[in-house]
Amino acid sequence: MLPGGSRHRPHPGCQSMRYLPLFASLSGQPCLVVGGGAVGERKALQLLAAGARVTVNAPRLSPALEAAAADGRIRAERRPFDPGLVPLQLLVVAATGDRAVNHAVADAARAALRLCNVVDDPAASSYISPAVVDRSPLIIAVSSGGEAPVLARLVRQRLERWLPARLAVLAAWAGSWRDRVKSALPDVTARRRLWEEVLAGVLDARTGPAQAVIDGRTAEADTALLRLLQRDGGHAGATGEASGEAWLVGAGPGDPGLITVSGLHCLQHADVVLHDRLVAPALLAFARRDAELIDVGKTGGGAATAQSDINTLLVARVRAGQRVCRLKGGDPYVFGRGSEEARALADAGLPFRVVPGVTSASGCGAYAGIPLTHRGTAHAVTLVSAHLVAGEQEPDWQSLAAPAQTLVFYMTGRRLAAVSEALCRHGRPAGTPAAVVMGGTTGEQRVVAGTLGDIAPLAAAAGVSSPAILYVGDVVALRAGLDWFRPATDAAAYNSEESGEPR
Ligand code: SAH
Repeated sequence: MLPGGSRHRPHPGCQSMRYLPLFASLSGQPCLVVGGGAVGERKALQLLAAGARVTVNAPRLSPALEAAAADGRIRAERRPFDPGLVPLQLLVVAATGDRAVNHAVADAARAALRLCNVVDDPAASSYISPAVVDRSPLIIAVSSGGEAPVLARLVRQRLERWLPARLAVLAAWAGSWRDRVKSALPDVTARRRLWEEVLAGVLDARTGPAQAVIDGRTAEADTALLRLLQRDGGHAGATGEASGEAWLVGAGPGDPGLITVSGLHCLQHADVVLHDRLVAPALLAFARRDAELIDVGKTGGGAATAQSDINTLLVARVRAGQRVCRLKGGDPYVFGRGSEEARALADAGLPFRVVPGVTSASGCGAYAGIPLTHRGTAHAVTLVSAHLVAGEQEPDWQSLAAPAQTLVFYMTGRRLAAVSEALCRHGRPAGTPAAVVMGGTTGEQRVVAGTLGDIAPLAAAAGVSSPAILYVGDVVALRAGLDWFRPATDAAAYNSEESGEPR
């Protein structure tokens, strides 16, 4: 795999590879599938997708294969396995349910020097089908040679999550620049370095020109690449100044599994993580080992770090060239003051991105069995802050009291009685179902359910703990049977940092 310089020792895995991976161009090539059932169908369709001329040999064909034969997409040979078909093929697939027939196909293929895959039987196969991550033109094939298919699948899933979905767009963009880059930078090493610099950001940190392409900001990417070309054209290899960036990332309401794939990426690549109190401790374990973790958490009303100080810190760190992950509970733009932080960055002329998160209303609702809307029951949902900033106008209780809508009150702790009383006073019936969810989506989750009339005393009796969120509306009554989450068992698996025991 590596050129034979003495400094290079072969990678351990390269010394004896049981399979040589290769990507076959099947366009217009004859391929045979023996077997006309569900498996044969899947294999035939795969080969068709790769442009092969497919023949299916089986006494009976599945309806989809019959349809494909009827409109000429495949050729059907409706009879038992015919070894005479084998020498005419590039590839052969044995996909009957009968082991003896499959082995007869493999034998015929071996005799005719054709490559043959016997489905689910690597020992009898001369080629095997890998698990595939398709970001054409980038294609990644993963195989454990049949030894550990689950491991191969897990690796594939990891890659699937890691690679941006729009990688094809990026490849096309890079392709469109190829010739220009080549003439501007005749030196192959300089060119490789430039492309590495342009492309690596997208995999490492979701930043840079390549990320701009993925995000649809092609003009920006073009400008950036042009600038790099001018730089390298003058003095190849010079590096630019480290440029900082902030990522405002929603961590979700508690369960660390509820962060988004993009959010996790940011967390994993940041130089500094500024995090809230509500962020799951288990999530912080994903930060880089050498990343600086700064707790700017607030506790029930009292500010540990004033918002203005957080803004200042954020701006200073980005200015110093650091990549800062501002990790916030739930969604940054839902009662999270994320917009104030974004504004501070924008005013300072610094680059930032916002990665949305699962907000508590939907996260806690999902885990407590409370859908936010339900056909015929609630056609609207309103997110309301129960905590009023001094001098702020009261919510429009009149419109919140209207029927057929779900209300979700954030920061509800001490305001539970005031909120339910105001809703009743403005005409929402006292019998309207209501529930308080505390520590939602974590091993500590507790739900107190009742009605608008009695939710405040019920919650007080149960001991309201923070964080707590209040749901009001008929959707709350749908909980029975939908409350699938068992905090003690389900969450313990995720929240290794927490006790996993309900209080
Ligand atoms: N940006 C966050 C909200 C921050 S305000 C989001 O999108 O969810 C903080 C309030 O969110 C808390 O007072 C509480 O009402 C709610 N909250 C956050 N996490 C919660 C949880 N795990 N369980 C219940 N409520 C939660």
